[in-house]
Amino acid sequence: MPDPIYVTRSFLPRKEAYLKYLERPWASAMLTNHGELCQELESRLKKLLNVNHLVLVSNGSLALHLAYKALGLKGDVLTTPFTFAATSSVLRWENCNPIFCDIDRKTFCLSPQKVEEKITKAVSGIVPVHVFGNACDVEKFEEIRLNHPGLKIIYDAAHAFGVEYTKENGKVGSLLEHGDASILSFHATKVFHCIEGGAVIVKDKDTENKIREFINFGYDPMGGGKLNPLGTNCKLSEFHAAMGLAVLDNIDLILEKRRKIVENYRRQLSNELEFQVHNKKSSENYAYFPVILKDEIQLKNLVILLNSKCIFPRRYFYPSLDTISYSTGESYCPNSREISKRILCLPLFPDLNENTQSGIIKLINDFLKK
Ligand SMILES: *Cc1c(COP(=O)(O)O)cnc(C)c1O
Repeated sequence: MPDPIYVTRSFLPRKEAYLKYLERPWASAMLTNHGELCQELESRLKKLLNVNHLVLVSNGSLALHLAYKALGLKGDVLTTPFTFAATSSVLRWENCNPIFCDIDRKTFCLSPQKVEEKITKAVSGIVPVHVFGNACDVEKFEEIRLNHPGLKIIYDAAHAFGVEYTKENGKVGSLLEHGDASILSFHATKVFHCIEGGAVIVKDKDTENKIREFINFGYDPMGGGKLNPLGTNCKLSEFHAAMGLAVLDNIDLILEKRRKIVENYRRQLSNELEFQVHNKKSSENYAYFPVILKDEIQLKNLVILLNSKCIFPRRYFYPSLDTISYSTGESYCPNSREISKRILCLPLFPDLNENTQSGIIKLINDFLKK
């Protein structure tokens, strides 16, 4: 049997490059607690992502907790059912009531129109997701935010590392500066990773400081001995930051290799498959390669065929979260249910070799011809 090909494979820097970064914590014995490497990674990420207030944390799910709590989400929160479970399960942990609104059938992102229909006095926030790195309609969401004072918008940007967005005035900026906050995940399977890690991006110093308090047991980050009773531990260790720095040194290479693979898929896959329609105002980070099959039966048959050749694509996202009882509100989302049943993410990672990819493409195209 050939080596299995999974939907993703974590990028690893050269071992020597990682060990080089570890010399510093090894010498100082400062292994965690917002150490030198964590600070260096924070400042490099702020520069690269073009954002002013970024706090590194130990994973993307905690980043969601922190953003929801710092911005005071409570009661009903409108979000998408077409996402990773964490987006809405964390809402539940934060005692919110997720209410699902449907997605756009082409972009797979939360529909601002569907959101508007469900805004009531009980809604404190909206959590859209830049699905597979595709930017949501951030301008429409901004309009909604301005029309409803007090309503917070928190983007789950776990997939959107490095994505840029062209504004109405033609200026290019970070996608991550929209809304009241954005969160990133730096899990091993994401475009950029620290093994486990994440970040919260906010708009002002006060919110940043509040989050810095939360992540270090409630201690005032400026010293002075004040203690916030809501503190916990979400710190990123120096060993994780070292991996982040070593991976970041390769980020251009990672994105370039991913771009080539995505372009091969787009060029060579049968046009019987539907692809995600990309927001023209947003740049791409080639995080995932989803395809839409005709129906769930065809999808299941393709998965059986690929698995028999040791290729393991992933049904991502399945199931649609409005089929799970997260909330008490009425949340039926037909577009999300349909897309979830027909979508498959194909293998995509920097070291996917060209022959292997051609083999996958041929298997799929031959299957579709039958
Ligand atoms: C990966 C992911 C998360 C969670 O991030 P972790 O770092 O794994 O905790 C949240 N939301 C989305 C959309 C994700 O893909």
